[in-house]
Amino acid sequence: MAQAQLNIAIAGAGLMGRLLAWRLSEKGLRITLFESGSLEQPTGACHTAAGMISPLSELFHCPLRIYQLGMQSLQFWPQWVQQLELATGTTVDYRQSGSILIAHPQDRSELLQFQQELIAKLGHENQSQLQWLDNIALHKLEPELDRFDQGLYLASEADIDNRKLLPALRKALQQNRVQLRENTSAECHPGTVETANGCEAFDIVLDTRGLGASSAVPGLRGVRGEVMVVETPEVQLNRPVRLLHPRYQLYAVPRADNHTVIGATEIESEDLSPISLRSTMELSSALYSIHPAFAEARVIETRVNCRPATMDNLPIVDSTPGLIRVNGLFRHGYLLAPALVTQAEAAITKQIQNSLIGEVT
Ligand SMILES: Cc1cc2nc3c(=O)[nH]c(=O)nc-3n(C[C@H](O)[C@H](O)[C@H](O)COP(=O)(O)OP(=O)(O)OC[C@H]3O[C@@H](n4cnc5c(N)ncnc54)[C@H](O)[C@@H]3O)c2cc1C
Repeated sequence: MAQAQLNIAIAGAGLMGRLLAWRLSEKGLRITLFESGSLEQPTGACHTAAGMISPLSELFHCPLRIYQLGMQSLQFWPQWVQQLELATGTTVDYRQSGSILIAHPQDRSELLQFQQELIAKLGHENQSQLQWLDNIALHKLEPELDRFDQGLYLASEADIDNRKLLPALRKALQQNRVQLRENTSAECHPGTVETANGCEAFDIVLDTRGLGASSAVPGLRGVRGEVMVVETPEVQLNRPVRLLHPRYQLYAVPRADNHTVIGATEIESEDLSPISLRSTMELSSALYSIHPAFAEARVIETRVNCRPATMDNLPIVDSTPGLIRVNGLFRHGYLLAPALVTQAEAAITKQIQNSLIGEVT
């Protein structure tokens, strides 16, 4: 079984499924992509996300493994984005301008604690990745943060506009002649995809259904997240800003057209009903406390979705002959996806090698 002749099925056209389908189709592999919904109007967590690629910010709550995978992904994103933009003639607004953490003067200990925690996890030799900003340095980077006199700058962090990336990937898949089976719910088995129309055989099946795979991935659960999108020309931020607070955390991610994505709640529930009043108030008041001009911002959109998470909140790339499951991207889909794509590619290569050995022996 030569790699170029492989017939591969991918179930789930969220972030992981699209990215994998694109990378594999770029290598000339024959790909069929099954999606229970529509590719034009995605409903997966990928569509709701804020698109931050922030290995350092996440390290505060996560094990070092997430940071390491995130740093690997940061190596891939710029080149992949460039390739995607060239191929599709679109822009996806990838930005690597770092991110800034701030806290109100009464919560300054939050900033210090954050810094200490990261240094403890990274080791002193890596502490240059965190840059303490005084008044002047902070306002040079973000003039609008004039209510704050200190901050932390994480220069390596990036973000991507998922609302531009996902359609660009869809276009690239069409160009690469990936077979797109929309509105087709799929079950994944080794070497077989089962739909309402029956079973189809493939050399390898990749299961990237996110929460849709919960009956197949032990312990997979959804973690509710809520974000809001506001619009105002009054406040111009240049990069994602995180406000540290003892009770809640807020991030504000500036996007094109004077839009800012703010989020996100993290609630242990699979409830997909609209955003709660409490979350709306907490996110809005935290944003208003960053800059009073946000008071007149217009609420353009509220988004709710569930992050697919394993019991330990770590991702899985689980390979058995004929079936590879990639799941549990939790709150780190954009942060981890390229690193997990390369792991899935390695698992495919290994399965091919094993099948060749099987043919010879
Ligand atoms: C509020 C919020 C904010 C977030 N912010 C960030 C962030 O800033 N940075 C970051 O890195 N991550 C963020 N995330 C996490 C990120 O969105 C997820 O980790 C990522 O989308 C998971 O990708 P996935 O492809 O595994 O799943 P999904 O994106 O959920 O895609 C799964 C796809 O499978 C399809 N599907 C389901 N069942 C079936 C079936 N039976 N057959 C066929 N298709 C099926 C679904 O329709 C969907 O299209 C955020 C998530 C949320 C909810």
